[in-house]
Amino acid sequence: MRLYLASGNPHKALELQAMADRWRSEGGTGPRIEVVSAAAAGGMPEVVEDAGTFVGNATKKALALHGRLPPGSWSLADDSGLCVAALGGAPGVESAYYAGPAGDPGANLAKLVLAMRGVPAARRAAEFVCVLVLAGPAGLLKSFEGRCPGGLIEEPRGSGGFGYDPLFVPSGLDRTMAEMAPAEKHRVSHRGRAWAQCVGWLAAGG
Ligand code: IMP
Repeated sequence: MRLYLASGNPHKALELQAMADRWRSEGGTGPRIEVVSAAAAGGMPEVVEDAGTFVGNATKKALALHGRLPPGSWSLADDSGLCVAALGGAPGVESAYYAGPAGDPGANLAKLVLAMRGVPAARRAAEFVCVLVLAGPAGLLKSFEGRCPGGLIEEPRGSGGFGYDPLFVPSGLDRTMAEMAPAEKHRVSHRGRAWAQCVGWLAAGG
């Protein structure tokens, strides 16, 4: 089955497709899933992400793309971000634009490093959150939430992944998400956890 991804972020498309493929290669049942970029459906419509919650923003994106798909199609939206306790939950739903409207990932990371400078280890807890929303035939909407608790180190480490990965170490591990192979990241990540629920639901017949 095709899931049209309501996102212009190529990293999300790659991660979701890799997770779909791994699900199959590890013996997962259900439909073979192809994650198709919004570009294949004429592009992602402009969506103002002002709902204030991950699920609200993901729902807006899923419905916006769904409205321009052929009848019977499915769209999938991902809204995600990093919530830092010492910053009152920031950057949270604003993660993509933390350092400004240009949405520059390097500037976002640098701003977070600075905001956390001098904060002691005991107060460096953070959590990645991902909400996936599926919009399907007959107006069906279904959401799945995945969380990955962890902490922030002082200086970025590693070159894999994207966004805030070089600063974030998942609980119980000692490497940043940017120092992990993609499959390792997906096993513990917020997106991997939300995806496991989503694909399980689809495999059970939706
Ligand atoms: P969205 O496109 O509004 O959902 O923005 C998500 C933003 O959260 C991204 O631009 C990143 O800054 C951050 N983010 C979400 N997931 C991840 C991840 O897996 N690794 C690192 N940063 C992430």
